[in-house]
Amino acid sequence: MKTHLDIRCVNCGNPYPELGLPFICRQCGGVYDFSTFPNYDPGLLDQNKTGLWKYQYSFGLTRDHSSLSLGEGNTPLIWHPNENAAFKMESQNPTASYKDRGSSVLIAHMIERGIKYAVEDSSGNAGASYAAYCARVGIQGRVFIPDSASGAKRKQIEMFGGDVVPVPGPRSNAASKVIEAANRGIPYASHAYQPFGMLGIATIAYEIALQSSGNVGTVISPVGHGNLFLGLIYGFQSLVTAKILDSMPMMIGVQAENCSPISSAYPDKLIDPTYTPKPTSAEGVSVSQPVRGTKILSVLKLIDGKIVSVSEDKIFPNRAKLATLGIFVEPTSALPWAVYQETKANLNPPVIMIITGSGYKTINH
Ligand SMILES: [Zn+2]
Repeated sequence: MKTHLDIRCVNCGNPYPELGLPFICRQCGGVYDFSTFPNYDPGLLDQNKTGLWKYQYSFGLTRDHSSLSLGEGNTPLIWHPNENAAFKMESQNPTASYKDRGSSVLIAHMIERGIKYAVEDSSGNAGASYAAYCARVGIQGRVFIPDSASGAKRKQIEMFGGDVVPVPGPRSNAASKVIEAANRGIPYASHAYQPFGMLGIATIAYEIALQSSGNVGTVISPVGHGNLFLGLIYGFQSLVTAKILDSMPMMIGVQAENCSPISSAYPDKLIDPTYTPKPTSAEGVSVSQPVRGTKILSVLKLIDGKIVSVSEDKIFPNRAKLATLGIFVEPTSALPWAVYQETKANLNPPVIMIITGSGYKTINH
């Protein structure tokens, strides 16, 4: 049975079309988001499937797509040896980041819409994940990346057979190129703009609820474009509606201070369209114009939570401290741990930190 997805333009209410893969509203250019998020229904869980495909009923698909799985989801929740805190190890997904949750669900929707070719513009975890699933299902995936991008993530994209197009200049040039392509009608499989990935992200919340026996005090997550944080919020809200959880956890989003357009606006300002970031080693959250920023600010007025930032000088020491617990993370994933270290006395236990990506991808930092 297909779950109806209530996806609409946040500006004009135009529903997401049944055909094609627009990344913004065709009528007004607004962002697409869930008007209502699918319910969590334990009665519809498919225990014959593994990982996030147990929750396939909630993805709004018309048929079974679990065969495209590379083993995403069902990541461990590792408890701190002597504190009431735990790490949700999204670094243990197939391409070593949480992005595989969103990629797998987005790719399934692309298959249902008959998409054979699509563009992306990430040289990071999202690009690597997108290239892997394109390889898995035979979609031709072109990835525009800054020609300065190097390292393990670029290597991942190339090895998966992604059609890499290096673009000279800053990151924004690659983004312009992909928008040009999208404006010519080429499907844009954006992890930031496409809302489908948040269906996969919400399964992180479902797994955490199960793994902690319904005891979730605080969740701390990095925030770039905000799809991870907002998808987690949607997932936990669905769990509360389904009475699996008694109440929403305290939701804390964390940005790098050098690139903190949402925490700079929190709680009462609008996101500055001219926000100018400084470089940050937390490249996963190096996003100056976050697609979900406005929505996150409005949702945080309704639930217990906030957006904070961590200064650059604290990122590597906290990453090193985490490694002494046996957990090796990308710099972005040191942000939740830094917040936990500084504010644990004020957080509701247990505190769950989202480990977004593996340290092995940034081995030279
Ligand atoms: Zn619109």
